[in-house]
Amino acid sequence: MQNPVERCLEPVLTAPFYLGQLLVRKTATGGFIVSNRDDALLEQLQTFRNEEDAIEIAKYDDAGRYRPLKTAPNMRHGWRLDLATMEKLRRALDYFYPGRLAVFAAWENGNLQTTSLRDTLERQSGMYRVAAEISDAQIDDLVADFCRSNGGCLRTILWKRDRNGVIASTTLPKEKFDPGIDQIVARPELSTPATVPLLCQEPCNLLVAECRKVVKGASV
Ligand code: SF4
Repeated sequence: MQNPVERCLEPVLTAPFYLGQLLVRKTATGGFIVSNRDDALLEQLQTFRNEEDAIEIAKYDDAGRYRPLKTAPNMRHGWRLDLATMEKLRRALDYFYPGRLAVFAAWENGNLQTTSLRDTLERQSGMYRVAAEISDAQIDDLVADFCRSNGGCLRTILWKRDRNGVIASTTLPKEKFDPGIDQIVARPELSTPATVPLLCQEPCNLLVAECRKVVKGASV
């Protein structure tokens, strides 16, 4: 029996689609090929066949550096993952981008809750409690730099700065907040394969840590 994520993915699986930096293609035998979208036309790729290989592939960038943020645009190149079933595909995609398919399914079903940055900062404890002292202007600049799709993170931001619904950063392009736009191409007028967005429903721990750094830096 299919789970909600697989049901949600099924309509987009009739044709190739993008998920972040990944390209997913269906084979004539009903299996799937996953690769870095930059490698779509390459034939000399290292082939893997186990969905758990995605864990190692996603761990380091091309230079061998650890990737703390799995949705950063630094997925390594030169591989392909051949998977026999939808279940294996779902698990592999969840290793590449943990939690993103479940969030996408919730969003598609109208059940996704978001949490503002101020609410996230207010509930921090210990060494991160001070992060809540960051100013609105500092948030505007920090989010523009840390979350930008070009070099920062490929997620589409759904959360607000605070409960008043203020946008997370006035400096980011409007496409950064639009789940219908591919964050790598970021040009709605260009035609691309279907894109399943990587949604950001609440600020991540790495952004919270950056908020703390800004406050600490401002106080010395
Ligand atoms: S807060 Fe969201 S968009 Fe920003 S870096 Fe973290 S995961 Fe990416």
